[in-house]
Amino acid sequence: MSAPVVGILGGGQLGRMMALDAAPLGVRCHVYAPAVGPAMHVTDQVTLGAYDDVEALQAFGRACDVVTFEFENVPGHTAEALAEVTTVHPGPRAFAVCRDRIAEKSFLRDEAGVQTAPWAPMTAAGDVAAFLAARGTPVVLKTAQLGYDGKGQRIVRPGDDVDAAWDALTAGFPGVAIIAEGFVDFAWEGSVVIARSATGEVRAYELVRNTHRDHILHTTDVPAGATRGVAEAAEELARQVVDALDYVGVMGVEMFVGADGSLAVNELAPRVHNSGHWTQDGAVTSQFEQHLRAVLGWPLGDPSRRPGAWRMVNLLGDDVDTVPTWIGTAGAHVHLYGKAQARPGRKMGHVNHPVEA
Ligand code: AMP
Repeated sequence: MSAPVVGILGGGQLGRMMALDAAPLGVRCHVYAPAVGPAMHVTDQVTLGAYDDVEALQAFGRACDVVTFEFENVPGHTAEALAEVTTVHPGPRAFAVCRDRIAEKSFLRDEAGVQTAPWAPMTAAGDVAAFLAARGTPVVLKTAQLGYDGKGQRIVRPGDDVDAAWDALTAGFPGVAIIAEGFVDFAWEGSVVIARSATGEVRAYELVRNTHRDHILHTTDVPAGATRGVAEAAEELARQVVDALDYVGVMGVEMFVGADGSLAVNELAPRVHNSGHWTQDGAVTSQFEQHLRAVLGWPLGDPSRRPGAWRMVNLLGDDVDTVPTWIGTAGAHVHLYGKAQARPGRKMGHVNHPVEA
């Protein structure tokens, strides 16, 4: 069997970990990114190019058996230009849906048939006032595009100055559509990382529990401590999402879990997901290997957890200074991304370690 070449668009840590897991499978990875970064440190097939350079993208695409992505803010025409010359997984539709909260929430409601927070598109401050009055609970205003790590969001409570909140949010994102969501009174946040192969096979990792620090994922705990019924409902919901989207690859389905076990999908990430990093050491098959299997149309691996409970801790910014301690901690697996500068909140690496159940 000749070694298949998987093209990875994007040069960050997700591509790095994908390339590291490709090697034992005899899969070569070709990384395309505008600048040298974590993924390029670990593979010898690289193209430096802009995401809108169609000629360079297509030359890269022709050199690969399949192209995939390690980030989702891919310009629309990038995936389409690649799809003209090679197989692309996930396909352009997945990005169109996941890039825009209005498209995503419409898809979740109309096609996947899963629950989200109540929401509506907003075109002016007056819409927000009406939404707020109709709900009587706080609402979260979000930019439909380009928001990340809590940027592009604002909570508005009954009695707040709606005009001021609208102006403050829209000033930073001129011309970007806005949605309002009813505030979900969740007990905790979870996610299901799920894989769907080019052959239609689907395997889900179990529901995990996530905590955030300053809007950035900080820890993932497995098992999540949910009842069997909630865990199964979460997996079923994720399955409905990937099937309805005819999705190929690994996806992160983020959700709010209510005290009564109710589930509402918050966001879809059309790629390997930070809340799936525990699988590198805690599951039979890592999410990175699983993604490669999915996009290559190979049989999916076993997503079962290895015995015991696991925690993934992100090393954000200066947390990276704790690495010597982690290196000396029995059972801890350190994963560093090779980034030189530790800026506040920047994901420098993570640690997977067993915990007492
Ligand atoms: P997002 O950028 O949509 O993932 O939101 C970031 C974080 O804000 C979530 O992880 C939640 O902690 C919080 N959040 C977002 N939307 C809502 C909502 N409708 N109700 C309550 N909390 C929310």
